[in-house]
Amino acid sequence: MSTFKNDAAFAQALDAADPLRAFRDEFLFPQHNGRPVVYFTGNSLGLQPKAAAGALKQELDDWARFGVEGHFHAMHPWLSYHEELTASAARLVGAKNEEVVVMNQLTSNLHFLMVSFYRPSGKRRKILTETRPFPSDTYAFASQITFHGGDPEKDLVEVQPRTGEHTLRTVDILAKIDELGDELELVCFGGVNFYTGQAFDMAAITKAAHAVGAIAGFDLAHAAGNLELKLHDWNADFACWCSYKYLNSGPGSVAGAFVHERHLGVGLPLFAGWWGHDKKERFKMERTFKPMPTAEAWQVSNAPVFSMALHRVALEQFDRAGISNLRAKSEVLTGYLAFIIAEVAKETGTRLEVITPNDPAQRGCQLSILAHGHGKGLFDELTRLGVVADWREPNVIRVAPVPMYNSFEDVWRFGQILKECLAGSH
Ligand SMILES: *Cc1c(COP(=O)(O)O)cnc(C)c1O
Repeated sequence: MSTFKNDAAFAQALDAADPLRAFRDEFLFPQHNGRPVVYFTGNSLGLQPKAAAGALKQELDDWARFGVEGHFHAMHPWLSYHEELTASAARLVGAKNEEVVVMNQLTSNLHFLMVSFYRPSGKRRKILTETRPFPSDTYAFASQITFHGGDPEKDLVEVQPRTGEHTLRTVDILAKIDELGDELELVCFGGVNFYTGQAFDMAAITKAAHAVGAIAGFDLAHAAGNLELKLHDWNADFACWCSYKYLNSGPGSVAGAFVHERHLGVGLPLFAGWWGHDKKERFKMERTFKPMPTAEAWQVSNAPVFSMALHRVALEQFDRAGISNLRAKSEVLTGYLAFIIAEVAKETGTRLEVITPNDPAQRGCQLSILAHGHGKGLFDELTRLGVVADWREPNVIRVAPVPMYNSFEDVWRFGQILKECLAGSH
Protein backbone atom coordinates (compact mmCIF):
# COMPACT_ATOMS: atom_id res chain seq x y z
CA MET A 1 0.00 0.00 0.00
CA SER A 2 1.53 3.24 -1.10
CA THR A 3 -0.77 5.21 1.21
CA PHE A 4 1.22 4.35 4.35
CA LYS A 5 3.03 7.08 6.25
CA ASN A 6 5.98 6.82 8.56
CA ASP A 7 4.63 8.89 11.41
CA ALA A 8 3.18 8.28 14.85
CA ALA A 9 -0.18 9.94 14.23
CA PHE A 10 -0.74 7.81 11.13
CA ALA A 11 0.04 4.60 13.07
CA GLN A 12 -2.21 5.67 15.94
CA ALA A 13 -5.05 6.36 13.52
CA LEU A 14 -4.74 2.81 12.13
CA ASP A 15 -4.86 1.49 15.71
CA ALA A 16 -7.94 3.55 16.48
CA ALA A 17 -9.68 2.03 13.46
CA ASP A 18 -8.59 -1.55 14.30
CA PRO A 19 -11.62 -3.63 15.39
CA LEU A 20 -9.26 -6.01 17.24
CA ARG A 21 -7.41 -3.32 19.20
CA ALA A 22 -8.95 -4.30 22.58
CA PHE A 23 -7.18 -7.69 22.56
CA ARG A 24 -3.84 -6.00 23.28
CA ASP A 25 -5.09 -5.23 26.79
CA GLU A 26 -5.69 -8.91 27.44
CA PHE A 27 -1.92 -9.65 27.36
CA LEU A 28 1.04 -9.09 29.67
CA PHE A 29 3.96 -7.32 27.98
CA PRO A 30 7.55 -7.45 29.25
CA GLN A 31 8.60 -3.90 30.18
CA HIS A 32 11.57 -1.85 29.10
CA ASN A 33 12.30 1.45 30.88
CA GLY A 34 8.76 1.56 32.17
CA ARG A 35 6.92 0.88 28.90
CA PRO A 36 6.02 -2.25 26.96
CA VAL A 37 8.79 -3.61 24.75
CA VAL A 38 8.20 -3.84 21.01
CA TYR A 39 7.41 -7.55 21.16
CA PHE A 40 7.92 -9.08 17.72
CA THR A 41 8.66 -12.67 18.76
CA GLY A 42 5.17 -14.13 18.90
CA ASN A 43 6.55 -16.54 16.29
CA SER A 44 8.80 -17.99 19.00
CA LEU A 45 6.84 -17.60 22.23
CA GLY A 46 3.51 -15.81 22.28
CA LEU A 47 2.75 -13.43 25.15
CA GLN A 48 0.86 -14.47 28.25
CA PRO A 49 -2.89 -13.78 28.29
CA LYS A 50 -3.91 -12.09 31.54
CA ALA A 51 -6.54 -14.81 32.00
CA ALA A 52 -3.87 -17.56 32.04
CA ALA A 53 -3.05 -17.33 35.75
CA GLY A 54 -6.70 -17.67 36.77
CA ALA A 55 -7.17 -20.70 34.55
CA LEU A 56 -4.16 -22.43 36.08
CA LYS A 57 -5.29 -21.51 39.58
CA GLN A 58 -8.68 -23.07 38.84
CA GLU A 59 -7.05 -26.43 38.12
CA LEU A 60 -4.80 -26.20 41.18
CA ASP A 61 -7.81 -25.36 43.34
CA ASP A 62 -9.83 -28.22 41.88
CA TRP A 63 -6.93 -30.58 42.51
CA ALA A 64 -6.73 -29.37 46.11
CA ARG A 65 -10.47 -29.66 46.59
CA PHE A 66 -11.23 -32.89 44.75
CA GLY A 67 -8.00 -34.87 44.52
CA VAL A 68 -8.53 -37.72 42.08
CA GLU A 69 -12.23 -36.90 41.84
CA GLY A 70 -11.25 -33.84 39.83
CA HIS A 71 -11.29 -36.15 36.82
CA PHE A 72 -15.07 -35.98 37.13
CA HIS A 73 -15.90 -33.04 39.38
CA ALA A 74 -13.43 -30.31 38.40
CA MET A 75 -15.01 -27.29 36.75
CA HIS A 76 -13.46 -28.63 33.54
CA PRO A 77 -13.38 -32.39 34.23
CA TRP A 78 -9.87 -33.71 33.59
CA LEU A 79 -11.05 -37.00 32.12
CA SER A 80 -12.38 -35.27 29.03
CA TYR A 81 -10.32 -32.08 29.19
CA HIS A 82 -8.90 -32.36 25.69
CA GLU A 83 -12.42 -32.60 24.26
CA GLU A 84 -13.14 -29.04 25.39
CA LEU A 85 -10.38 -27.83 23.07
CA THR A 86 -11.30 -29.80 19.98
CA ALA A 87 -13.90 -27.53 18.37
CA SER A 88 -11.77 -24.38 18.71
CA ALA A 89 -8.64 -26.12 17.46
CA ALA A 90 -10.59 -27.55 14.51
CA ARG A 91 -11.94 -24.10 13.60
CA LEU A 92 -8.42 -22.71 13.69
CA VAL A 93 -7.01 -25.20 11.21
CA GLY A 94 -10.12 -25.62 9.04
CA ALA A 95 -10.97 -29.18 10.05
CA LYS A 96 -13.88 -31.25 11.24
CA ASN A 97 -13.93 -31.90 14.97
CA GLU A 98 -13.26 -35.61 14.57
CA GLU A 99 -10.12 -34.82 12.54
CA VAL A 100 -8.40 -32.92 15.36
CA VAL A 101 -6.91 -33.80 18.71
CA VAL A 102 -4.94 -31.68 21.16
CA MET A 103 -2.15 -33.80 22.62
CA ASN A 104 1.56 -34.17 23.37
CA GLN A 105 4.07 -31.81 21.81
CA LEU A 106 4.90 -30.95 18.27
CA THR A 107 7.86 -33.14 17.38
CA SER A 108 6.29 -36.03 19.30
CA ASN A 109 3.14 -35.65 17.23
CA LEU A 110 5.18 -35.54 14.03
CA HIS A 111 6.74 -38.86 15.01
CA PHE A 112 3.45 -40.47 16.01
CA LEU A 113 1.85 -39.37 12.74
CA MET A 114 4.79 -40.58 10.68
CA VAL A 115 4.34 -44.00 12.23
CA SER A 116 1.07 -44.10 10.33
CA PHE A 117 1.97 -41.99 7.31
CA TYR A 118 5.60 -42.78 6.53
CA ARG A 119 5.68 -46.46 5.66
CA PRO A 120 8.29 -46.85 2.92
CA SER A 121 8.22 -49.95 0.77
CA GLY A 122 9.95 -51.03 -2.43
CA LYS A 123 11.28 -48.01 -4.29
CA ARG A 124 8.80 -45.63 -2.65
CA ARG A 125 10.93 -44.39 0.24
CA LYS A 126 11.63 -40.67 -0.12
CA ILE A 127 10.53 -37.76 2.02
CA LEU A 128 10.43 -34.35 0.34
CA THR A 129 10.59 -31.19 2.41
CA GLU A 130 11.44 -27.51 1.98
CA THR A 131 14.95 -26.09 2.01
CA ARG A 132 16.16 -25.43 5.56
CA PRO A 133 13.28 -26.90 7.52
CA PHE A 134 13.30 -26.47 11.29
CA PRO A 135 16.09 -28.73 12.63
CA SER A 136 13.76 -30.79 14.81
CA ASP A 137 11.82 -31.81 11.69
CA THR A 138 15.01 -32.81 9.90
CA TYR A 139 15.98 -34.98 12.88
CA ALA A 140 12.52 -36.54 12.92
CA PHE A 141 12.57 -37.26 9.15
CA ALA A 142 16.10 -38.64 9.19
CA SER A 143 15.53 -40.83 12.23
CA GLN A 144 12.29 -42.24 10.78
CA ILE A 145 14.12 -43.07 7.56
CA THR A 146 16.90 -44.77 9.51
CA PHE A 147 14.33 -46.59 11.65
CA HIS A 148 12.90 -48.09 8.46
CA GLY A 149 16.35 -49.17 7.30
CA GLY A 150 16.79 -46.36 4.79
CA ASP A 151 19.54 -43.81 4.25
CA PRO A 152 18.67 -40.15 5.01
CA GLU A 153 21.41 -39.03 2.59
CA LYS A 154 19.39 -40.59 -0.21
CA ASP A 155 15.83 -40.59 1.05
CA LEU A 156 15.49 -37.12 2.58
CA VAL A 157 15.24 -34.53 -0.19
CA GLU A 158 14.91 -30.75 0.15
CA VAL A 159 13.52 -28.54 -2.59
CA GLN A 160 16.22 -25.95 -3.22
CA PRO A 161 15.72 -22.30 -4.16
CA ARG A 162 17.05 -21.10 -7.50
CA THR A 163 20.49 -19.56 -7.52
CA GLY A 164 20.38 -16.10 -5.97
CA GLU A 165 16.91 -16.65 -4.44
CA HIS A 166 16.02 -17.27 -0.80
CA THR A 167 12.54 -18.70 -1.11
CA LEU A 168 10.93 -21.44 -3.17
CA ARG A 169 8.76 -21.12 -6.24
CA THR A 170 5.60 -23.21 -6.17
CA VAL A 171 6.30 -24.41 -9.72
CA ASP A 172 9.66 -25.76 -8.58
CA ILE A 173 8.08 -27.57 -5.62
CA LEU A 174 5.46 -29.16 -7.85
CA ALA A 175 8.05 -30.09 -10.48
CA LYS A 176 10.19 -31.78 -7.82
CA ILE A 177 7.22 -33.81 -6.57
CA ASP A 178 6.52 -34.86 -10.14
CA GLU A 179 10.17 -35.72 -10.77
CA LEU A 180 10.43 -37.96 -7.69
CA GLY A 181 7.14 -39.61 -8.68
CA ASP A 182 6.84 -43.20 -7.50
CA GLU A 183 9.94 -42.88 -5.31
CA LEU A 184 8.09 -40.38 -3.15
CA GLU A 185 6.38 -41.68 -0.02
CA LEU A 186 5.80 -38.46 1.89
CA VAL A 187 5.81 -34.73 1.18
CA CYS A 188 6.10 -32.90 4.51
CA PHE A 189 6.42 -29.13 4.44
CA GLY A 190 6.15 -26.45 7.06
CA GLY A 191 3.01 -24.37 6.47
CA VAL A 192 5.28 -21.35 6.91
CA ASN A 193 9.05 -21.74 6.90
CA PHE A 194 10.49 -20.63 10.25
CA TYR A 195 13.53 -18.93 8.71
CA THR A 196 12.26 -17.10 5.63
CA GLY A 197 8.65 -16.67 6.72
CA GLN A 198 7.49 -18.06 3.35
CA ALA A 199 3.97 -19.54 3.37
CA PHE A 200 3.56 -22.51 1.06
CA ASP A 201 0.63 -23.36 -1.16
CA MET A 202 -0.56 -26.33 0.85
CA ALA A 203 -3.51 -27.10 -1.43
CA ALA A 204 -1.28 -27.30 -4.51
CA ILE A 205 1.39 -29.32 -2.71
CA THR A 206 -1.21 -31.79 -1.45
CA LYS A 207 -2.73 -32.20 -4.89
CA ALA A 208 0.65 -32.79 -6.50
CA ALA A 209 1.68 -35.27 -3.81
CA HIS A 210 -1.53 -37.25 -4.23
CA ALA A 211 -1.12 -37.23 -8.01
CA VAL A 212 2.08 -39.29 -7.65
CA GLY A 213 0.64 -41.52 -4.93
CA ALA A 214 2.43 -39.84 -2.02
CA ILE A 215 1.13 -38.62 1.33
CA ALA A 216 0.98 -34.90 2.16
CA GLY A 217 1.65 -33.78 5.74
CA PHE A 218 2.33 -30.35 7.21
CA ASP A 219 4.13 -28.97 10.21
CA LEU A 220 2.07 -25.92 11.10
CA ALA A 221 4.27 -24.59 13.92
CA HIS A 222 4.52 -21.22 12.15
CA ALA A 223 1.15 -21.38 10.44
CA ALA A 224 -1.38 -22.20 13.19
CA GLY A 225 -2.83 -18.94 14.48
CA ASN A 226 -0.98 -17.09 11.71
CA LEU A 227 -2.69 -18.11 8.47
CA GLU A 228 -6.22 -19.10 7.63
CA LEU A 229 -5.97 -22.84 7.15
CA LYS A 230 -8.34 -25.21 5.39
CA LEU A 231 -6.79 -28.60 6.09
CA HIS A 232 -9.93 -30.58 5.39
CA ASP A 233 -10.75 -28.90 2.09
CA TRP A 234 -7.12 -28.94 1.01
CA ASN A 235 -7.23 -32.70 1.52
CA ALA A 236 -4.05 -32.79 3.61
CA ASP A 237 -3.43 -36.24 5.02
CA PHE A 238 -2.06 -35.13 8.37
CA ALA A 239 -0.71 -32.10 10.18
CA CYS A 240 0.68 -31.09 13.54
CA TRP A 241 1.39 -27.81 15.29
CA CYS A 242 2.54 -26.37 18.59
CA SER A 243 0.62 -23.94 20.78
CA TYR A 244 3.33 -21.78 22.32
CA LYS A 245 4.20 -19.69 19.24
CA TYR A 246 1.28 -17.87 17.64
CA LEU A 247 -1.16 -19.66 19.91
CA ASN A 248 0.03 -18.00 23.13
CA SER A 249 -0.38 -21.06 25.33
CA GLY A 250 2.88 -20.89 27.25
CA PRO A 251 6.36 -22.43 26.98
CA GLY A 252 6.30 -26.07 25.92
CA SER A 253 2.52 -26.16 26.04
CA VAL A 254 0.37 -28.93 24.56
CA ALA A 255 0.32 -29.39 20.77
CA GLY A 256 -2.24 -30.37 18.14
CA ALA A 257 -2.69 -32.97 15.43
CA PHE A 258 -4.93 -33.41 12.39
CA VAL A 259 -5.76 -36.59 10.51
CA HIS A 260 -8.05 -36.31 7.49
CA GLU A 261 -11.38 -38.09 7.95
CA ARG A 262 -10.68 -40.54 5.13
CA HIS A 263 -7.96 -42.05 7.34
CA LEU A 264 -10.15 -42.37 10.43
CA GLY A 265 -11.50 -45.71 11.52
CA VAL A 266 -9.78 -47.61 8.71
CA GLY A 267 -7.25 -49.39 10.88
CA LEU A 268 -4.08 -47.48 9.97
CA PRO A 269 -1.11 -48.78 11.95
CA LEU A 270 -0.30 -46.52 14.88
CA PHE A 271 1.51 -46.49 18.20
CA ALA A 272 -1.27 -47.03 20.70
CA GLY A 273 -1.91 -45.95 24.27
CA TRP A 274 -4.90 -46.08 26.57
CA TRP A 275 -6.15 -42.60 25.68
CA GLY A 276 -6.52 -43.69 22.08
CA HIS A 277 -8.75 -46.58 23.11
CA ASP A 278 -12.51 -46.34 22.60
CA LYS A 279 -13.48 -44.10 25.47
CA LYS A 280 -16.69 -45.95 26.24
CA GLU A 281 -14.61 -48.97 27.13
CA ARG A 282 -11.37 -47.36 28.25
CA PHE A 283 -11.80 -48.25 31.88
CA LYS A 284 -12.71 -51.83 31.27
CA MET A 285 -8.93 -52.11 30.96
CA GLU A 286 -9.15 -54.83 28.37
CA ARG A 287 -6.06 -56.24 26.68
CA THR A 288 -7.07 -55.62 23.08
CA PHE A 289 -6.70 -52.09 21.73
CA LYS A 290 -9.87 -50.75 20.17
CA PRO A 291 -9.07 -47.36 18.61
CA MET A 292 -11.32 -44.32 18.77
CA PRO A 293 -12.95 -43.67 15.38
CA THR A 294 -11.52 -40.11 15.45
CA ALA A 295 -8.09 -38.46 15.53
CA GLU A 296 -8.18 -39.28 19.24
CA ALA A 297 -7.04 -42.77 18.24
CA TRP A 298 -3.53 -41.25 18.02
CA GLN A 299 -3.61 -40.10 21.66
CA VAL A 300 -1.39 -42.19 23.86
CA SER A 301 -1.55 -40.53 27.26
CA ASN A 302 -4.06 -38.77 29.44
CA ALA A 303 -4.45 -35.02 29.14
CA PRO A 304 -1.75 -32.64 30.50
CA VAL A 305 -4.36 -30.52 32.23
CA PHE A 306 -2.18 -27.58 33.29
CA SER A 307 -0.97 -26.76 29.80
CA MET A 308 -4.43 -27.47 28.41
CA ALA A 309 -5.86 -24.91 30.83
CA LEU A 310 -3.56 -22.30 29.27
CA HIS A 311 -4.37 -23.48 25.77
CA ARG A 312 -8.10 -23.23 26.50
CA VAL A 313 -7.70 -19.54 27.42
CA ALA A 314 -5.74 -18.85 24.24
CA LEU A 315 -8.11 -20.73 21.95
CA GLU A 316 -11.06 -18.91 23.44
CA GLN A 317 -9.38 -15.63 22.44
CA PHE A 318 -8.93 -16.90 18.89
CA ASP A 319 -12.60 -17.84 18.81
CA ARG A 320 -13.61 -14.36 19.91
CA ALA A 321 -11.22 -12.59 17.54
CA GLY A 322 -11.84 -14.91 14.57
CA ILE A 323 -8.92 -16.13 12.50
CA SER A 324 -10.16 -14.41 9.33
CA ASN A 325 -10.34 -11.05 11.14
CA LEU A 326 -6.86 -11.63 12.56
CA ARG A 327 -5.53 -12.49 9.13
CA ALA A 328 -7.13 -9.41 7.58
CA LYS A 329 -5.40 -7.19 10.16
CA SER A 330 -2.18 -9.15 9.82
CA GLU A 331 -1.86 -8.46 6.10
CA VAL A 332 -2.07 -4.71 6.71
CA LEU A 333 0.15 -4.80 9.82
CA THR A 334 2.92 -6.71 8.06
CA GLY A 335 2.45 -4.59 4.94
CA TYR A 336 3.03 -1.54 7.14
CA LEU A 337 6.15 -3.16 8.60
CA ALA A 338 7.52 -3.81 5.10
CA PHE A 339 6.87 -0.15 4.25
CA ILE A 340 8.59 1.07 7.43
CA ILE A 341 11.64 -1.12 6.82
CA ALA A 342 11.94 0.23 3.28
CA GLU A 343 11.66 3.82 4.58
CA VAL A 344 14.37 3.27 7.20
CA ALA A 345 16.63 1.63 4.62
CA LYS A 346 16.20 4.66 2.34
CA GLU A 347 16.72 7.23 5.08
CA THR A 348 19.84 5.56 6.47
CA GLY A 349 21.31 4.36 3.19
CA THR A 350 21.34 0.76 4.47
CA ARG A 351 20.61 -2.37 2.47
CA LEU A 352 17.84 -4.11 4.41
CA GLU A 353 16.75 -6.99 2.22
CA VAL A 354 13.48 -8.60 3.23
CA ILE A 355 13.87 -12.22 2.12
CA THR A 356 10.25 -13.07 2.94
CA PRO A 357 8.03 -12.98 -0.18
CA ASN A 358 6.45 -9.61 -0.89
CA ASP A 359 3.16 -11.26 -1.91
CA PRO A 360 0.83 -11.39 1.15
CA ALA A 361 -0.51 -14.76 -0.03
CA GLN A 362 2.99 -16.19 0.34
CA ARG A 363 3.71 -15.04 3.85
CA GLY A 364 2.21 -14.85 7.33
CA CYS A 365 3.00 -12.01 9.72
CA GLN A 366 6.76 -12.57 9.93
CA LEU A 367 9.36 -10.71 7.89
CA SER A 368 12.97 -11.89 7.80
CA ILE A 369 15.41 -9.07 7.23
CA LEU A 370 18.86 -9.71 5.81
CA ALA A 371 20.87 -6.78 7.13
CA HIS A 372 23.69 -6.42 4.60
CA GLY A 373 26.90 -5.06 6.08
CA HIS A 374 25.69 -5.56 9.65
CA GLY A 375 26.43 -8.22 12.21
CA LYS A 376 24.96 -9.24 15.51
CA GLY A 377 25.84 -5.78 16.88
CA LEU A 378 22.78 -4.33 15.17
CA PHE A 379 20.53 -6.93 16.76
CA ASP A 380 22.08 -6.40 20.20
CA GLU A 381 21.49 -2.68 19.87
CA LEU A 382 17.83 -3.25 18.94
CA THR A 383 17.48 -5.42 22.04
CA ARG A 384 19.13 -2.77 24.21
CA LEU A 385 16.61 -0.21 23.00
CA GLY A 386 13.55 -2.33 23.77
CA VAL A 387 12.85 -4.45 20.68
CA VAL A 388 12.34 -8.17 21.28
CA ALA A 389 13.12 -9.83 17.94
CA ASP A 390 15.04 -12.89 16.87
CA TRP A 391 18.50 -13.30 15.39
CA ARG A 392 19.64 -16.09 13.07
CA GLU A 393 23.20 -16.51 11.83
CA PRO A 394 24.73 -15.13 9.71
CA ASN A 395 22.72 -11.88 9.73
CA VAL A 396 18.98 -12.41 9.58
CA ILE A 397 16.64 -10.58 11.94
CA ARG A 398 13.16 -12.10 12.18
CA VAL A 399 10.34 -9.78 13.20
CA ALA A 400 6.76 -10.93 13.61
CA PRO A 401 4.09 -8.37 14.47
CA VAL A 402 1.13 -10.52 15.50
CA PRO A 403 -2.37 -9.22 14.88
CA MET A 404 -3.70 -10.45 18.25
CA TYR A 405 -1.69 -8.02 20.39
CA ASN A 406 0.69 -5.94 18.31
CA SER A 407 -0.26 -2.44 17.22
CA PHE A 408 0.55 -0.28 14.24
CA GLU A 409 2.29 2.01 16.71
CA ASP A 410 4.58 -0.91 17.65
CA VAL A 411 5.57 -1.11 14.01
CA TRP A 412 6.21 2.63 13.81
CA ARG A 413 8.26 2.49 17.04
CA PHE A 414 10.27 -0.39 15.66
CA GLY A 415 11.16 1.77 12.66
CA GLN A 416 12.28 4.63 14.92
CA ILE A 417 14.50 2.33 16.99
CA LEU A 418 15.90 0.58 13.91
CA LYS A 419 16.79 3.95 12.42
CA GLU A 420 18.51 5.01 15.63
CA CYS A 421 20.54 1.77 15.69
CA LEU A 422 21.58 2.14 12.05
CA ALA A 423 22.49 5.80 12.46
CA GLY A 424 24.54 4.97 15.55
CA SER A 425 26.46 2.14 13.91
CA HIS A 426 27.88 4.24 11.05
C1 LIG B 1 9.12 -24.52 16.85
C2 LIG B 1 9.19 -25.67 15.93
C3 LIG B 1 9.41 -26.97 16.42
C4 LIG B 1 9.66 -27.23 17.88
O1 LIG B 1 9.33 -28.53 18.23
P1 LIG B 1 8.81 -28.91 19.70
O2 LIG B 1 8.54 -30.35 19.60
O3 LIG B 1 7.60 -28.09 19.98
O4 LIG B 1 9.90 -28.58 20.67
C5 LIG B 1 9.43 -28.01 15.49
N1 LIG B 1 9.22 -27.78 14.18
C6 LIG B 1 9.00 -26.54 13.69
C7 LIG B 1 8.76 -26.33 12.23
C8 LIG B 1 9.00 -25.45 14.55
O5 LIG B 1 8.83 -24.21 14.07
